[in-house]
Formats: sequence, C-alpha cells, structure tokens
Amino acid sequence: MRLSKSLIPTLKETPAEAQIVSHRLMLRAGMVRQMASGIYAWLPTGIKVLNKIAQIVREEQWAAGAQEVLMPTIQSADLWRESGRYDAYGKEMLRITDRHERELLYGPTNEEMITSIFRDSVKSYRDLPQNAFQIQWKFRDEVRPRFGVLRGREFYMKDGYGFDLDREGAVITYKQMMLAYMRTFQRLGITAIPMRADTGQIGGDLSHEFHILAPTGESGVFYDADFEAGDAFAHDDVEKFYEQMTTIYAATDEKHDLATWETIPEARRREGRGIEVGQIFYFGTKYSKSMNFSVNGPDGGKIFPEMGSYGIGVSRLVGAIIEAKHDEAGIIWPDAIAPFKAAILNLRQGDSVTDGLCEELYKALGQDALYDDREERAGAKFAEADLMGHPWQMIVGPRGAANRMVELKRRATGERFELPVDEALAKVHF
Ligand code: ATP
Ligand code: MG
Repeated sequence: MRLSKSLIPTLKETPAEAQIVSHRLMLRAGMVRQMASGIYAWLPTGIKVLNKIAQIVREEQWAAGAQEVLMPTIQSADLWRESGRYDAYGKEMLRITDRHERELLYGPTNEEMITSIFRDSVKSYRDLPQNAFQIQWKFRDEVRPRFGVLRGREFYMKDGYGFDLDREGAVITYKQMMLAYMRTFQRLGITAIPMRADTGQIGGDLSHEFHILAPTGESGVFYDADFEAGDAFAHDDVEKFYEQMTTIYAATDEKHDLATWETIPEARRREGRGIEVGQIFYFGTKYSKSMNFSVNGPDGGKIFPEMGSYGIGVSRLVGAIIEAKHDEAGIIWPDAIAPFKAAILNLRQGDSVTDGLCEELYKALGQDALYDDREERAGAKFAEADLMGHPWQMIVGPRGAANRMVELKRRATGERFELPVDEALAKVHF
C-alpha cells in the first residue's frame, strides 16, 4: 500500500475519549473509528490485523478437527424461547421487530442456533462426535462499552460448539480445544494463561478463561509463576498437555481458592490483572435436552449429545495484543499479525535514486509493505512507522541508495542493520 493514497488517518494528538493505551494507539494509528457507542468501523490497517488473527484462529480450529460454518447474525426469538434463554438473557440482548411484527434478535452467541442445525441433520450416534465453529459478528448491548474494541457492543468472535455422545468424549473435545487455543495464542505471538473460571450465562460445570496479562485488565487473576515459562508445555499429547495445564494453579478471582493458593510456595504466587480473550465451557446436555436434540443410539434408545462451547474474542484480541505489545512510541506488532511486515521509508521523496530503489523494494514485497511515499520530513516518517508498529522499517536515504544499501530497523528491539538490497529483503521476508 502507498501511504500517500491510503485511508490511514493517523493522529498526532492523543484522543481525549480513549482511557487506555490500546484504544489510544488504535485511534492514533488510524486502525478504527467509532461509529456509535461500542461500534467501530475497521479501516485498512485495522481489518488487515483482524483478518490475520481470524485466519490463525481458523487454521488451528481446522487442525483440531472443527468444521467451519457461517450462521446469520440475526436470529429468531422463537429459537431462544426453546432453550428458555429469550427471557433469561436480559438487556444485553438487542431485540429487533421486523415489518411483520416478528421478533428477532442480533445474536450474542449461538448455542441455540447450532443445536437446531444439528437437530435437523444429525440423527444417528454414528454421525457423532462433531465439532463446528464460525467467525462472526456478535452484538451485546453492554451497559458500559469501553476501552475501544476491548469491550465493544458489536464484536467479532470465533464461536465453536462440540457435540459428543458421552461425557468422556466431550471432555476429550474440551481438552483438544484447550490445546488448539494454546497453539493459537503461541502463533499470534502472545502468552495467554488458561484459568479456572465461572460458567455464567452459558451454564455448565467446567470452564477455563484465557487471559493476557496486562495492568489494564478487567479481571483479577491469580497464577503460579510456572506459567511464565510460556512455551515449555507438551504440545504433542493432549492428555499430557491438559494434565500439565491444570496441575499448575491459575484462577480468576471468582474461582480463586485460598486453600490451594497457600500450598504454592510464596515466591511463585503471582497476582495481577488479565484481559479475557477466550473462554471454553463443557455444559453437558443443557441445550440438547431443552431443545430436544437426540440421536438414535446403537440399541435403539435416544442419546442427548453432550455439548461444549468454545469462544475467542477475535476483535478484543487486537486491543489486548496492543496492551501487551507497545512502548512509548507506539505499537509493536508480533510478526504473524502485523498489518505489513515492513514500512519502506523514502527519506528523499522525489530523488530519482531513492524513488527507484523504494519502488523496487515495494514491488518485491507487494501487500507485505507499506510504502511511505509522502513528501514528509524524515522525522515524521520515523514517528509514524514507530506508531503503526511494523516489525521492520526499511530506511532508504540517498547515500545508501547510491550503493544499493538499505538500513533496516527492527521495531521490537531497535536494532539496526546496514544491508545490501537482497539481504534486506530476505531478512524481512524470513
Ligand atoms: P466478559 O466477561 O468480558 O464480558 P464474556 O465472558 O461475557 O466476556 P464470552 O461469552 O465468554 O464473553 O465470549 C467469548 C469471548 O468473546 C470472550 O472471552 C471475549 O474475548 C469476547 N467478548 C465478550 N464480550 C465482548 C465484548 N463486549 N467486546 C469484545 N469482545 C468480547
Ligand atoms: Mg467469558
């Protein structure tokens, strides 16, 4: 993308309405604009990040054996009356009436809808287990939308649903999903800790929330420092992985258990704040029974499938990752989800040598590069590149360009390298 012809409305001033750093940086970097309370338009760099996160989430769901579907955002009230949640859900549900006075709603989650789809199509125990997910917009009329995309009213969520024949199978699915989540977060370049959690609206008796640690997090969390080891977990064997995950203590404040806490050596006890970026639930037959979804068992009897649901806050992740990855100058994107791998900074726009070399780099990198081709001071170009957080800056000045040399700056560390064009490109493309 050429910066001179891009819809990237960066701001020099700090927007007064933004209370936390990720919201400030998303506005300042021109990623989003608020259209109504808790409702955002995603501009070109914002949607690039959102799509990259969604794609990693999707690939790890596929790898875990989940099938992708896409359900509508608008649902019928009658569907929710079947489970009894239409009245129970309360004011967070956005209720809509169409021209025929039919009651509809903008889905806050999809347990009812996926259960009705399976009820229509799946009749035999031979068809199970199955696992399906979608990545789709949700709406919850939050009392206090705040912190930008961290607590929006309209937000993008991966929601997955598992259907198993018995509790044992459903618990295996639950463990596979936890593993898929840890792989997802690892690929996103962040650490998220699975914490014992309350089940809330969804119901059920087994649940974990995944938290990114940040001082601005809305949840109080307690965890064993062993989680700081990060990647040192078994990622090959589901059972081993789950045992490892759940024998190390981590809980949200609602589930915090003092007796267990005190068995952990004091030096390893960590108390902090977390941002919930995902949650998984096992809730048994709550929806299959209330919505009368059963399959024929091997002996002719009926089996009500055992279910779980699996959410990841895709749009919340954008803000949460910035909370975890920034400095005074701006965002520091992990490589895997950066809107561009590199910015090309032309320090003398209009000079035929720097222009020529920049065009060559831009052509080689294509969609992976943002070419700052504006007639701007070098200082302004550096500041905006730092703000937007590209993993690499390719700095092209007249002296270097004459020798086909490029200066590379690594955003995360500040390291600089003087390299011939080909080596610079190879480093950025990795
Ligand atoms: P919270 O406790 O933060 O209100 P929740 O527990 O109600 O969230 P879930 O039903 O578990 O949310 O939804 C799955 C995921 O969707 C959450 O883990 C979170 O990452 C994301 N999410 C939920 N509500 C919002 C929101 N208002 N804005 C952005 N993301 C959200
Ligand atoms: Mg939750």
